[in-house]
Amino acid sequence: MNTRPLALVTGASRGIGAAVARALAPTHDLLLGGRDADALSALAAALPGARAWAVELTDPDALAAAVAGIDRLDVLVHSAGVGMLGTVEETPADTWRRQFDVNVVAVAELTRLLLPALRAAGGDVVLINSGSGLTARAGWGSYAASKFALRAFGDALRAEEPGLRVVSVHPGRVDTDMQRDVVAHEGGEYDASRYLRPDSVAAAVLAGVTASPDAHLTEIIMRPTR
Ligand code: NAP
Repeated sequence: MNTRPLALVTGASRGIGAAVARALAPTHDLLLGGRDADALSALAAALPGARAWAVELTDPDALAAAVAGIDRLDVLVHSAGVGMLGTVEETPADTWRRQFDVNVVAVAELTRLLLPALRAAGGDVVLINSGSGLTARAGWGSYAASKFALRAFGDALRAEEPGLRVVSVHPGRVDTDMQRDVVAHEGGEYDASRYLRPDSVAAAVLAGVTASPDAHLTEIIMRPTR
């Protein structure tokens, strides 16, 4: 009988989510969230006990169908997210809505649907937040607002569900596709050596979910050393 704990990682098709999936794979069975079915299948083939869990997170009906049959969940890592930059003047309502839909509403809805399974396991919920969830800078308004909201969601969930651990991870810049888009938007030169590696963020996630049962790492804040 398979007794390995089960983890669901959203955004696992690339970037930080894929690194988190690789870090959890030696100890956890995995559901790999994302939309890129080919990338998810390739990763699932490389990780024993992993399978693709392809779903558009902003589609409530698809989400409800996708969680059917998950009765017990030990770890839920929310890594899927979008980073749409622009000043207040440049940011139309649709951008605010899309950013909140993916970064906040989908996280809340997926967590809500999985609460019985998480409670059954006394599970861990990890929110990949951002430095932008702690400080809002010029040109980052709607992204930062979504991440401030994500932090508030995590604080409320932690207070409401004492049987779960809710870990908010706040990385600075990480070497991923999202960061390439950010740097292109800013017009700077992409220098991967100046950013955190996705594996380093995954190591922080692992620290949160492997902490001894008496310990709750509520917030992990990390910055690149350069
Ligand atoms: P990324 O490389 O752009 O990957 C984003 C992931 O989210 C992909 O797997 C993508 O799936 C998934 N995704 C996006 N929208 C989705 C939707 N509507 N439905 C389902 N899946 C969706 O991003 P990343 O850099 O790894 O970022 C991961 C998280 O870390 C985000 O929450 C981000 O805000 C946060 N973060 C990133 C940085 C950074 O510098 N990169 C820093 C701090 C915090 P598909 O590709 O399969 O569609």
